[in-house]
Amino acid sequence: MNSGIIQSVRGMNDILPTASETWRYVEQTIHEVVALYGYGEIRTPIVEKTELFSRSIGEQTDIVEKEMYTFVDRNQDSLTLRPEGTASCIRAGISHGLLYNSTQRWWYLGPMFRHERPQKGRYRQFHQFGVEAIGWPGPDIDSEVISLGHALWRALGLVGLRLEINTLGSLESRRQYTDALKIFLSDNYSDLDEASTFRLDQNPLRILDSKDPNTKALLSNAPVMGDYLTAEDKAHFDLLCRQLDILRIDYHINNRLVRGLDYYTGAVFEWIVPGEGSQNSVCGGGRYDNLVQQLGGSSTPAAGFACGLERLINLVEEQQNRRQSDAVVDIWMVLLGESATLTGHALAEDLRRKGMRVICNCGGGTIGKQLRRADQSGAHYAVIIGDKELESNAITIKGLRIAEEQSGIPLEKAVDFLDAQLKNVTTSR
Ligand code: ATP
Ligand code: MG
Repeated sequence: MNSGIIQSVRGMNDILPTASETWRYVEQTIHEVVALYGYGEIRTPIVEKTELFSRSIGEQTDIVEKEMYTFVDRNQDSLTLRPEGTASCIRAGISHGLLYNSTQRWWYLGPMFRHERPQKGRYRQFHQFGVEAIGWPGPDIDSEVISLGHALWRALGLVGLRLEINTLGSLESRRQYTDALKIFLSDNYSDLDEASTFRLDQNPLRILDSKDPNTKALLSNAPVMGDYLTAEDKAHFDLLCRQLDILRIDYHINNRLVRGLDYYTGAVFEWIVPGEGSQNSVCGGGRYDNLVQQLGGSSTPAAGFACGLERLINLVEEQQNRRQSDAVVDIWMVLLGESATLTGHALAEDLRRKGMRVICNCGGGTIGKQLRRADQSGAHYAVIIGDKELESNAITIKGLRIAEEQSGIPLEKAVDFLDAQLKNVTTSR
């Protein structure tokens, strides 16, 4: 039998207790911000029928062509670990009859799976927080979802995120533009990088996203989407820009901005962090007015975004200087002897019932050793209980962050005493 160590799957990470504190802080902040905007949480399965993603994200996209975790289950159905959240939300909305002639404001948070080359900020299991606002055609909802993201950065104390926006126009203007771009790129075929030559036929818009220097240089002379927009497309985009001005949200119009998923139409946007290389996109989204129909529902406009939590948390750690720490408790019980241990665990329960966070020293140890552990735990107080002192029903309480020690406290007074002491402590959390 092979008894070697089993590693986690490449690109799929454990989030250890030292890191999960920051995760919880970010998740909690997300909960607070979505509540301010009146969005409700939706939780969908992690596995879906493969067709859901090929039909929505698009057959000729990087995600569907080479990044999905697809497998055949025991019933011979082709299933896929979700690579993103929007398709599932729309599927759920349609099958529960929630999108027909009605509007929805939803948010979700959970793991997504893409078989990409793992590197900093790019993993094979990663997490997205996303919002979907379904049923509104106007730019008021586009600016609402953008300002929700903006409110989250503010609540997390983040600075330096740059908002880039563009419009892909309606389906018709996009088709005309795509034709013009295709002609231009075919005329300059020899200057294209290899990956772009593959995209030319199927998905030429994606070439705008190329990182290749030659292709980028060539693109500076390519036709621009702005010239192909209808009056209606332009009015929608202008109104969005005006709304962002009024909200005092800075933005930069980037007419090369396209999204990696085919379902986007109209206004699109991305929040990027300059200097983070090719993992600089923290959040991306926009309008997807055709998706509901594409998935079998009736024509319904929609807009939303998805934000990568690993990238967001990395920023929080960089900018807030929040040190990863072991779980912080209020009280550490130093227990010296058998009856002290029994009494100590009972006292700990009483303290927890009052909302105090307590760790009991387990596994014995000298008083010195136990106090060292108490100190390292970050607790504010050590409660020291010894078999001898218990005979006179007394315990000792020692401040670990301030020089303070009181012995001879009667056992039955311990809960109230500690409760009062801890209320005076201003925690750093
Ligand atoms: P990128 O250009 O970095 O590949 P994307 O355009 O594929 O991003 P979306 O599909 O729009 O990204 O997903 C929204 C967000 O999810 C991204 O802005 C990013 O923060 C995050 N994200 C996407 N793929 C990954 C990944 N493999 N690992 C970690 N985060 C990711
Ligand atoms: Mg990608």
